[in-house]
Amino acid sequence: MFNSLSDRLTSTFKNLRGRGRLSEADIDATVREIRRALLDADVAVPVVRQFTAAVRERALGAEVSGALNPAQQVVKIVNAELVEILGGQTRSLQLAKTPPTVIMLAGLQGAGKTTLAGKLALALKEQGHTPLLVAADLQRPNAVTQLSVVAERAGVPVFAPHPGNTSDADAETIIGDPVGVSRDGVAEARAKQHDVVIVDTAGRLGVDQVLMQQAADIRAAITPDEVLFVIDAMIGQDAVTTANAFAEGVDFTGVVLSKLDGDARGGAALSVAKVTGKPIMFASTGEKLTEFEVFHPDRMASRILDMGDVLTLIEQAEKAFDADEAERMAAKVAGGEDFTLSDFLVQMQQMKKLGSMKKMLGMMPGMAQMRDQLENFDEREVDRVQALIQSMTPAERENPKIINGSRRARIARGAGQTTAAVNGLLDRFGQAQKMMRQMASGGAPAGPGGMPA
Ligand code: GDP
Repeated sequence: MFNSLSDRLTSTFKNLRGRGRLSEADIDATVREIRRALLDADVAVPVVRQFTAAVRERALGAEVSGALNPAQQVVKIVNAELVEILGGQTRSLQLAKTPPTVIMLAGLQGAGKTTLAGKLALALKEQGHTPLLVAADLQRPNAVTQLSVVAERAGVPVFAPHPGNTSDADAETIIGDPVGVSRDGVAEARAKQHDVVIVDTAGRLGVDQVLMQQAADIRAAITPDEVLFVIDAMIGQDAVTTANAFAEGVDFTGVVLSKLDGDARGGAALSVAKVTGKPIMFASTGEKLTEFEVFHPDRMASRILDMGDVLTLIEQAEKAFDADEAERMAAKVAGGEDFTLSDFLVQMQQMKKLGSMKKMLGMMPGMAQMRDQLENFDEREVDRVQALIQSMTPAERENPKIINGSRRARIARGAGQTTAAVNGLLDRFGQAQKMMRQMASGGAPAGPGGMPA
């Protein structure tokens, strides 16, 4: 996501490196580059205009700073402006004082509403809530079934009208009564003491009056605490028109960007919050129910500027990593003990648990240049490493220095791999060990342009 925008911006900044003071002409040239990069990323024209004007003004007025060089100053300004157009503060769900909290989903057909319903339900359930899903999308023949499938995967109940009866209906006619179903669904949540109820509504392929009226009627009937507008991040310049139509039609309270995992140029993300004045609250990044995150404008900005989304990385790592194991490792390294191949294996296995290492590595600072290599990264590599380490004796794992030529050959044979593979592993392990030692002595890697990451 945002790959090409990110590459364009970082190369713009690279051109500024090593400069002393920036002249007005330098700043204008930079702003022009930024404008082009944003337009190519499909960011809406008025947003681009405001953005570049603000960057230019701040860059011209920037104080000469002892701490930052001109390139870093421009990065800092662009970062601040990006955070601003992405909505500023992170905004979390508004929970009702008296449950149930009613959340309504709206958006075009195919935007990812049903998928999001499942993701949101699962995330809420994991936080200890007891969500109920309501299938009020009676437009699409399969929508009710699809929501039931998603609900089952999330392990939450679903309230649906006549389950199964809708599959042979004509997709173009409104069947059943979505307003009634929504109202009944909320009543059901109240009666069964669900503390959150998520109402999935119908979408059409394009914005139309019937759809909008139906959504508005549902909104009026259930007075939701949140109305989330789900938008496909790939829709490009149409994002603004669609978002404005929904803002006017249903008056949503927050935005969810879906399909941010695709090759989205990111224009929707960068336009919608600014144009509608509503915060982006969540991001959907894949078809799996766990591929879902709270949207943090500041973190997204640093991801775009390739400053690395270290906070999200840490959070995801915390989720997947065994906390006790991580603590043990940290204590060990901090205590000056050596990092062994057994530790290396445990670490790699935990990384694998994170699901997508590619995604994770992509969030690390300075990774833009490595993106091509990342694309070729093979998760099966973890399995190969595991086989090699398991083919070692405990003594070898604790002290790899003893692994001589004949031991290498034996290890390779045991794992069904080549000696070159053993050598490769030992080299990589050596680097990891060195990094761990550096971290133990307090040296942190620096971000682009020497900015603290
Ligand atoms: P709805 O019509 O708004 O309910 O949209 P759906 O939830 O049915 O999603 C439409 C399609 O997009 C489905 O094939 C989903 O699997 C897919 N989809 C939804 N969210 C994401 C996402 O974040 N990433 C990707 N890659 N696909 C998604």
